[in-house]
Amino acid sequence: MSEWLKGDPLRKKKVSRASLKNQKTSSKKSSGQSVKKASSATTATLVKKVLFRPDRYQYVRDKKKSSSCVFCEAARQDLHFETLCVYKSTHSMILLNKFPYNSGHILIVPQSHQGHLLSLPEVEYQDLHQMLKLALAATESIYSPSAVNIGLNQGRAAGAGLPDHLHYHLIPRWEGDLNFFPLIAETKAVVETLEQTYKKFRDYFLENAP
Ligand SMILES: [Zn+2]
Repeated sequence: MSEWLKGDPLRKKKVSRASLKNQKTSSKKSSGQSVKKASSATTATLVKKVLFRPDRYQYVRDKKKSSSCVFCEAARQDLHFETLCVYKSTHSMILLNKFPYNSGHILIVPQSHQGHLLSLPEVEYQDLHQMLKLALAATESIYSPSAVNIGLNQGRAAGAGLPDHLHYHLIPRWEGDLNFFPLIAETKAVVETLEQTYKKFRDYFLENAP
């Protein structure tokens, strides 16, 4: 054997692996019965875990339910509080955010299921941005905020909760509304109920929408 191989760490590894194999073989020989038992026990556990878990059924059902798109569902239905959809144009719609960051937090959404702005046909793109203007006018009229956040998270990595269906967020803001409470508790005190928000926007659109 070459001198340089003697100190080769890889060679040492090979030796130790070989000895390990020998050890395993001898232990199998000495306790063949227990190895068989262990393997059938493992199979039983697997079968139990994979096939017979009725408690997982509810989870799978819930998963299936949540995979249908809430925005597409709202687009299919007439306006009502259940879907939180408060106004529709030809190609777009305005919904309340179910978990608002602030009072009056709404979403401006195309009716077609698209996850990328550039995928929207031109007519739908124009309609969506007309809706954004209408939503801003409504928000300013109803809430007189001192500022607004308008944002679109395109893609999950950008923070989109429903990345497959585009939606603008529009959030009215007031000086000092971001106090220490949401910072320490990740919770925001919203001063009105969703029902109240829905009625305010509904009344506005009934009177002012084209
Ligand atoms: Zn959708």
